[in-house]
Amino acid sequence: IGGHLKMAECLAARLAAQEEQILLLTREISTLRDGLGQGLDAAGLAVVSPELENLRTENEKLRYRLLHLRRGLQAELELEEARGKRQQGAKCDKAPQKNTSKPQQTNNRLNPWPEYIAERLSLYEELKRESDALQSKKAADSKPITVELPDGRKVEGKAWLTTPYQLACNISQGLADNAVISRVNGELWDLDRPLEQDCSLEILRFDNEDAQAVYWHSSAHILGEAMERFYGGCLCYGPPIENGFYYDMFLDGQKGVSSMEFGDLEALCKAVVKEKQPFERLEVSKETLLKMFKYNKFKCRILNEKVTTPTTTVYRCGPLIDLCRGPHVRHTGKIKAMKIYKNSSTYWEGRSDMETLQRLYGISFPDSKMLKEWERFQEEAKNRDHRKIGKDQELFFFHDLSPGSCFFMPRGAYIYNTLTEFIRDEYWRRGFQEVASPNIYNSKLWETSGHWQHYSENMFSFPVEDDIFALKPMNCPGHW
Ligand SMILES: [Zn+2]
Repeated sequence: IGGHLKMAECLAARLAAQEEQILLLTREISTLRDGLGQGLDAAGLAVVSPELENLRTENEKLRYRLLHLRRGLQAELELEEARGKRQQGAKCDKAPQKNTSKPQQTNNRLNPWPEYIAERLSLYEELKRESDALQSKKAADSKPITVELPDGRKVEGKAWLTTPYQLACNISQGLADNAVISRVNGELWDLDRPLEQDCSLEILRFDNEDAQAVYWHSSAHILGEAMERFYGGCLCYGPPIENGFYYDMFLDGQKGVSSMEFGDLEALCKAVVKEKQPFERLEVSKETLLKMFKYNKFKCRILNEKVTTPTTTVYRCGPLIDLCRGPHVRHTGKIKAMKIYKNSSTYWEGRSDMETLQRLYGISFPDSKMLKEWERFQEEAKNRDHRKIGKDQELFFFHDLSPGSCFFMPRGAYIYNTLTEFIRDEYWRRGFQEVASPNIYNSKLWETSGHWQHYSENMFSFPVEDDIFALKPMNCPGHW
């Protein structure tokens, strides 16, 4: 916090000093301008102007950096405060943490574990006991049910007792071993969750797209468990994506995530996989969950803003208890090969006015050969990258002096023009008319369109006399 605070103070001081310089320079310019009328040389003006422009641009950037720093500082202060409160709470109840936190992982970073883990676990265990008691009561009054398989075959089962996994075992051990998830009456269903009534049942393997999403989502929990152990921050969202999964974490503003840490995190994940931690499902009231996740304002936000039912579910694997609708694979041992391949920083729900989060991307497969294949494909994709091909075929190149903008060489320009002509022909053929409009607008337009409120920090903007102008951030021609 001290470092951040100092930096913010320095920035603010620099900003103020430069603002003053701008004022002085502006005054100087107007003096010179007045002088011009009386026959003064224009060269003097040309020397002053670029300097002024540079200062203005730099100040614009400084203003944004200061804004970010102040935001980070606020978040840190809140975190410190929360920590202070937690430590006070811990004084009256000095239960040994080792006993409450069962899993014995040796290659860890945070020692002792983050405090919230033990608190969360003891509340969970209490609730789980109640739920188990209810469950056995239901099982005691069990009635026979009929389960229809995809081939039309009907098998017998017992309500609140028979699980999809048991039925899969009856069909074949191979099917049960390779099962990722089941589908009951069209709804994805944990393999170890007892069936409740007459239903249809499908057993899905990794080659099924929905099962793959479940597999990757389950892997995200493993990554989340490792991240809690390693960084101790607050987990946010951990969904499956097209290429695996990610988990977002809010860290103490100072810390970032480095790719140097991937190895340690993967080792933690491997230990979790080795333990074959079962994914346990538990339905809990929203009110109790707000208590369980009181250390994590992000999970509380999800509870308050996204959960509209009186109860929802949490899932436990090892020491991790996560707010989640599920379903998941049976246990962490199902994840045979796993890799963390990328990290980035992002905002809560993608909103630049919200907290900055660290995101870790991973991928996993039920077979290490599949992971090797995926890695090879990624390598090939790198060779197909347009930035590489463009250079190899002498089509275009990029330069640091205009990052992100393409310099087309003769061959590239030829392709570019051919494509433009093709598109132009299509416009005419389809009855469209062409217009040409500016690329730069007064920020007033972006305020009207709403871009300014949401994306101004990511737009290329610059001062023009008394206004701020910006490059258009999208493809809209600006006419309406
Ligand atoms: Zn989940």
